Amino acid sequence: MSKLKIAIIGSGPTGFYTVAALLKAKADAEIDVIDSLPTPYGLVRGGVAPDHQSTKNVMRAYEKSATSDGVAFMGNVMVGRDVSLDELRELYDAVVLCIGSPLDNPLDIPGADKRGVMGAAAFVGWYNAHPDFVHLSDQLIPLLSQAETVAVIGAGNVAIDVARVLSRTEEELAATDIADYAAEAIVNSPIKDIHMIARRDAAHAKFTLQELREMGELQGAAPVIDPLQLEGLEFDHLDAKAQRVGHKNVEILRGFTEIADDGSKRRRVHFDFNLSPVEVLGGDSVTGLTLMRNRTETGKVVATGETSSLDCSMVLTAIGYRGSPLEGAPFNDKWGTFEHDDGRVGPGLYAGGWCKRGPTGVIGTNKHDGDHTAKQILADLSPSSKRGRDGLSDLLKERNVRVVSFEDWKVIEAAEISGATPPAPRKKFVTVDEMLAVLG
Ligand code: NAP
Repeated sequence: MSKLKIAIIGSGPTGFYTVAALLKAKADAEIDVIDSLPTPYGLVRGGVAPDHQSTKNVMRAYEKSATSDGVAFMGNVMVGRDVSLDELRELYDAVVLCIGSPLDNPLDIPGADKRGVMGAAAFVGWYNAHPDFVHLSDQLIPLLSQAETVAVIGAGNVAIDVARVLSRTEEELAATDIADYAAEAIVNSPIKDIHMIARRDAAHAKFTLQELREMGELQGAAPVIDPLQLEGLEFDHLDAKAQRVGHKNVEILRGFTEIADDGSKRRRVHFDFNLSPVEVLGGDSVTGLTLMRNRTETGKVVATGETSSLDCSMVLTAIGYRGSPLEGAPFNDKWGTFEHDDGRVGPGLYAGGWCKRGPTGVIGTNKHDGDHTAKQILADLSPSSKRGRDGLSDLLKERNVRVVSFEDWKVIEAAEISGATPPAPRKKFVTVDEMLAVLG
């Protein structure tokens, strides 16, 4: 009897949690995980901060799924370029979109197009050696070589990742898999001050506790916060969980006010709450920001009309991500996600993870999506005569696409590991050509 043919687009957490759920359900299926890069693991490789190596341990579980019977990784295959979504739907019984939210929400204020303003998706991709962002060295290395003050907009974990990585010392970065060019530019930069700018007050910051706590433990940077910012905060309108997190975040921030900044640290990270950027100042390049002072009233931002300015030569926005449309799938431009009914996008077409529900939650949150999609596929579909992997392989061969298998990836990975200088866990290749060259 023929097997169910399932194509999963995207080899990040949601893609692999979907595979794991199908395997757990003992689905009689042939499952292909397709990725535009020759490397698997999506955001775990290209988004998770390079100094958070333990978070990347989930790759071991994903590898177990990738090497299970019936599962194949097909890297270096871009849907929309090498094969269309419609073609995949012709070839497979089920196609699952797990392509995340790769784009930055735009900072919609005058001057946001100046040189020196960049979104976190691009900046994080750059320091994580993601091949699509390596070219940003042309802009970022000169910018970092001159920057004394950097503004980071947002009060979520991405903002904290960016501020923390910018604060790291050479010794701290040596134990990470950050791109060498980024480590060098960050370590040699004259940055003295990093301002994290949050539009609401400290009670509404979206940091998780461990991430915030880490800001008090940095070798080369001191956290700075005016204790007045922690007075008169309102929590009552928040749900119980948000109250708990809010109180704990504020307690950690209060601890920061007690750390004496004796000037021994090279950099300072300022937590600036109740401020919204309203204009980016400068000519072609950023020279500063105009900031509106806000009040936070029952969780809402209320502008006071009082403005101030901050001199800075880089503005990094970490104000949330959005999905990227894909021809053949309905897309809700307002939400930045695919249109779907409980994950069902169309007959045999599903979406999971951030491209379904938006960019919230931690890596493990996507496990629920994987379980849900697997259940839907098994309830909705039965095997047909679709050609699945054989058909796709033939098509890609005709189009001269060099498909990277999981075994190929292991060769690339081994070269990355052997190329690293300990204690760095790996030295990532920064271009697709370099990766393919390893495969001969
Ligand atoms: P996020 O948690 O939603 O934070 C976005 C921040 O941007 C919020 O502070 C938000 O303020 C602010 N913001 C949005 N629009 C703005 C605007 N126009 N002007 C000024 N500020 C604006 O999103 P994220 O930081 O991108 O993280 C995405 C998800 O990945 C989160 O669930 C996060 O926890 C997770 N993540 C986890 C880790 C980790 O576990 N270590 C690391 C990175 C990311 P408001 O609150 O006022 O809307």
